[in-house]
Amino acid sequence: MRRNVLIGAIVAVAVAIVVAALVALAGDTAVTAARFSAIRSDHTALRAFLQRMPKGADLHVHLSGAVYAEDLIAWAKSKSLCASLPMKIVACSEPESQPIGDAFKNQPFYDDLVNALSMRFFLPNAENPSGHDQFFATFGRFGGVTWLIPAEMTAAMLRHYAGEAVQHTELMITLLPYDYGPKLLAAIARVSGNDERLQRLQAGDLSAAVAEASKTIDGWVKRIDEVLGCDAQRSQPGCAVSYKYIAQINRNADEANVFVQTAFAAALIRTDRRVAGLNFVGPEDYRVARADYARHMQMIGFLARDVPVALHAGELWIGLVPPEDLTFHIRQAVEVAGARRIGHGVALAYERRSSELLDAMRRKPAAVEVNLTSNDVILGVRGNDHPLMAYWAARVPVVLSTDDMGVSRIDLSNEYLRAARDYPLGYRELKKIARNSLDHSFLDAAEKDAQLRKFEQASAEFERAVASERGLLRGIGALIAGLFRWP
Ligand SMILES: [Zn+2]
Repeated sequence: MRRNVLIGAIVAVAVAIVVAALVALAGDTAVTAARFSAIRSDHTALRAFLQRMPKGADLHVHLSGAVYAEDLIAWAKSKSLCASLPMKIVACSEPESQPIGDAFKNQPFYDDLVNALSMRFFLPNAENPSGHDQFFATFGRFGGVTWLIPAEMTAAMLRHYAGEAVQHTELMITLLPYDYGPKLLAAIARVSGNDERLQRLQAGDLSAAVAEASKTIDGWVKRIDEVLGCDAQRSQPGCAVSYKYIAQINRNADEANVFVQTAFAAALIRTDRRVAGLNFVGPEDYRVARADYARHMQMIGFLARDVPVALHAGELWIGLVPPEDLTFHIRQAVEVAGARRIGHGVALAYERRSSELLDAMRRKPAAVEVNLTSNDVILGVRGNDHPLMAYWAARVPVVLSTDDMGVSRIDLSNEYLRAARDYPLGYRELKKIARNSLDHSFLDAAEKDAQLRKFEQASAEFERAVASERGLLRGIGALIAGLFRWP
């Protein structure tokens, strides 16, 4: 009898140890996933959860559109700039302009500036009848200050990312030095062949332009560390966030100009590891971007086959452009230009043989950078109209990104919240998306390995913290529930 009691006690203790070990080891992810399922309709708890959740990288970011209007206004004041009406940041030599500094004593003026530089409180009007028009108009309004402060904007973004568990970003910015554009363009005047154009650029000022751009970036890097107050341990907020620049090319410039910008971007990427890739920017629905689309893709295939390319493709919808334009942009970006990442890809449903295209993207692989808020405010595409789940179901690598968080007045946690709110994606799926963002970053192999290790560690710590907040008994309950519940 006593022997049976003893055996029973030993078995009970052994079972308790095994269950506790399960929760402690394999269980943290399951407990965290169960916690996520339990709070997914409680948006207050969900937002707090997603804010803390390690989110890897924000890969699709236009630097000037990423900073908030309030920061832009403060920088414009510090540079003694003015606002012209209706609300564009300009030099104070502009007639009838008003010092930005006045906005700090005049709340309605300040409010008008914030609204003009972003989507806040936007109402359709004669000048900008749609969200699309307002969105793109903001860039012209804040361009008078943003070109002066690339380092300050970068520092602001890195500090921001540190506060929402983002460890890496790739920031799109124009890198072709201002003086070199006309010189390089003159070198290929009246020359149309790809080979001859490239030879002329290489024999001319291409290397000098690249060296000048690298020197400019040297200055930014130094200034970014100063602004953030980074010490040797890099312990100040933002100092540990990794970043690369993406050389952007204005796709609505004339054909020869786009060739020059692309040749320059590819040459810079080859020589400066702080510039990790290139991207074409500007509205894809504008006349030049549409008319030259196929030519642009061939140009990229010729000039930039050997460097990382991400391309805005399929940021279009029925009605915005003629139907034919909806049928080939994503495919040509992947197959002709060799893009490793597609920005937006919203027009997937209209592409010819879209299921074949999805297969090609999965095999390549070409990731899709999904920008949910941007697609909503610019294209009016949201919920089930968005192809996010079609990409997911086809096992195309999906990442979530912000596009222009300052213009849209969002952050990356908000995009994860939208994904959790509008699509059947659970914690494990969102974690996969976060991991994808590092996997499909343009970091080199050693940098990527280091960032992935950092992500695994941060995720393990996050899950351990969530599990410990739940306590052992509730953790066991959540673990069991997690086995039967999806997502
Ligand atoms: Zn974009």
